[in-house]
Amino acid sequence: MPPSSVPLLDAALPGGVRAGFTTRAGGRGPAPYDGLNLGDHVGDDPARVAAHREALRAAVGADALVLARQVHGADVVHVDRVPAEVPEADALVTGVRGLALAVLVADCVPVLLCDAEAGLVAVAHAGRPGLVAGVVPAVVAALRARGARDVRASLGPSICGGCYEVPPAMADDVAAHVPAARARTTWGTSAVDVAAGVLAQLAQAGVPASRVSRCTAEHDDLFSYRRDGRTGRTGGVVVLP
Ligand SMILES: [Zn+2]
Repeated sequence: MPPSSVPLLDAALPGGVRAGFTTRAGGRGPAPYDGLNLGDHVGDDPARVAAHREALRAAVGADALVLARQVHGADVVHVDRVPAEVPEADALVTGVRGLALAVLVADCVPVLLCDAEAGLVAVAHAGRPGLVAGVVPAVVAALRARGARDVRASLGPSICGGCYEVPPAMADDVAAHVPAARARTTWGTSAVDVAAGVLAQLAQAGVPASRVSRCTAEHDDLFSYRRDGRTGRTGGVVVLP
């Protein structure tokens, strides 16, 4: 039986844009996918994932839900209908009302963007490589190229800098691109704070941003690749009503 409702953490985007972030709540499945897994590339039953996606579409009152095959890059794809083939990209933009865009994560930063006045919404998937590649500045530029004047952004739950340990050389490399992403773990080793880096990129681009501050690795109601390895994916979703 498909889940009857999908609770969303409010992304608080303005202009009547419906936007939020899923948790594991509202879905079912065996471990390690127990909860509302939206990822169809992680070994879960495809029919169950499809039912979860359908529940998410219904929860935001959208006509359709579009996702991309995420590849940790900075490409932005504009969609004006449900694509015949799943686009390979880490950012999607649309101006179509009722066409929901979604992005999948398990520790990476889900970013939802809008300019309601211009009638545009977008999503981006920013992990460590996407932060360095500049996927978020790229999607902001894509929105402005289509007429956006007042872009707003919202970041969903992701792994925090206190948990995301990386080798020192990797931390140095990321910080060379985005100094604000340098962090230390709570146990004192080198780390990356991807969300802090994304917020710095948005600030530099002049985009006001809000954030749902909730560490995926520290909260069992969210999927975390770093914590669990094989696991599901939560999502960020945005739609022009
Ligand atoms: Zn944490």
